[in-house]
Amino acid sequence: MLGLARTGLAAIHALCGGGAKVLAWDRDSDARAHAQDLSKECRGRLTIAEITADAVRGFSGIVVSPGVPINHHPIADIAREANVPLIGDIELFAEARAALPAHKVAAITGTNGKSTTCALLHHLLAEAGYATRLGGNIGIPVLSTEPLEPNARGAGIYVFELSSYQIDITRSLSCEAAALLNVTPDHLDRYDGSFEAYTESKVRLFGMQQGRSLALVDRASLQLPAVSRALAHRSPIVIEDVSLPGNPDEWLSLQGPHNRGNAAAAVAIARRFGVEEAAIEAGLKSFRGLPHRMERVGEIGGAIFVNDSKATNPASTAPALAAFPPKDGKPRIHWIVGGLPKGEGLAECEEWLDHVACAYTIGEAGPMFSSLLEGRVPVVKSEMMGEAVRAAAEAATPGDVVLLSPACASFDQFRDYEKRGEAFRSLVAMLQPGESA
Ligand code: ADP
Repeated sequence: MLGLARTGLAAIHALCGGGAKVLAWDRDSDARAHAQDLSKECRGRLTIAEITADAVRGFSGIVVSPGVPINHHPIADIAREANVPLIGDIELFAEARAALPAHKVAAITGTNGKSTTCALLHHLLAEAGYATRLGGNIGIPVLSTEPLEPNARGAGIYVFELSSYQIDITRSLSCEAAALLNVTPDHLDRYDGSFEAYTESKVRLFGMQQGRSLALVDRASLQLPAVSRALAHRSPIVIEDVSLPGNPDEWLSLQGPHNRGNAAAAVAIARRFGVEEAAIEAGLKSFRGLPHRMERVGEIGGAIFVNDSKATNPASTAPALAAFPPKDGKPRIHWIVGGLPKGEGLAECEEWLDHVACAYTIGEAGPMFSSLLEGRVPVVKSEMMGEAVRAAAEAATPGDVVLLSPACASFDQFRDYEKRGEAFRSLVAMLQPGESA
């Protein structure tokens, strides 16, 4: 086992529980110390030690964490040379399926919208009375979810969010429904800069499916050669063609045009599993959304504050900008943008700059974004988020929106996007009347 964060620990637990002997390693000593805590439970089956080239050659497989960059990693290179398979926890789940009670799987991938769509699908199923579990890239290792028992509604349904890293180390996950929500350039460092290779990785999910399973894809991705090749002999449902009930204005946590696609994918899969229209309509209304994605965190003097810290690339920020059009001809977004840049610019956001009242640039990308935006929208160079939030709160007028949608990774100033979103939330809380700043 290589990589001892949450996924790795759950895999060790499952492997040792199944009687396997496990040699595990993480380059981080804290992670190793955590794993050591499992030793007792594993009753002598777990050894934590560096994995040598000789040891690799004797293995039947190496389970790797999705976080380990297997395209350039010495252990992974030796494993490939020696034909030792590199697999992940999703593959372990797939291989253990036979021993589980009857159940179904829906797997959802895409560059953006995975967590929202998975959480919504899980909500629609749970509210309709199905036994269901959510796992995968959403932060819940699939091997830590309790086995599902069928109930009066039939077989239990696992809803898995899969990143391309996870698909890279999965070979045989057959699903009753698989969806590709969208593909835009992201994580290309793991694919030697190749968008084609990143796309190929995502569509491998379809390659693992049986003919009768539901395949869903967005119209734009279908134009990509890798996607159309992978779906050549299938009849995929195009996400944009899925009919949606009701009045989208009532879906409070699914605002913005991008959420139409996320909702359509979740609804199509829920229908395939037999959820009735009335339950779908009710579920779309009662869904409460996820933190850090277009999350409304406060209102000060008639301006609302929206935490979209999870928008770590320009393609996911674009719909956030699109969601708040000008009112009475006046742009109303005070946009806090920046962090660790993933690419060269803000191309996907350009179309929506007329929605921006002022941009507040922060972090490492700040200078680059400032020079890109200056002359097109007012820019305040802030560097740190605290300054940006204070300046934006001061400038915002009733009806305006102070939006943290950074279009960047967080690692220059925060541990992760969650910490960045929490920092935004507490800064907003401190500015609320009655709180001391
Ligand atoms: P993921 O799990 O794929 O990262 P999330 O549901 O966590 O996706 O959303 C990540 C970010 O992308 C959020 O800022 C959200 O507002 C935005 N987003 C959600 N769905 C889409 C979509 N279909 N297209 C573009 N951006 C989206």
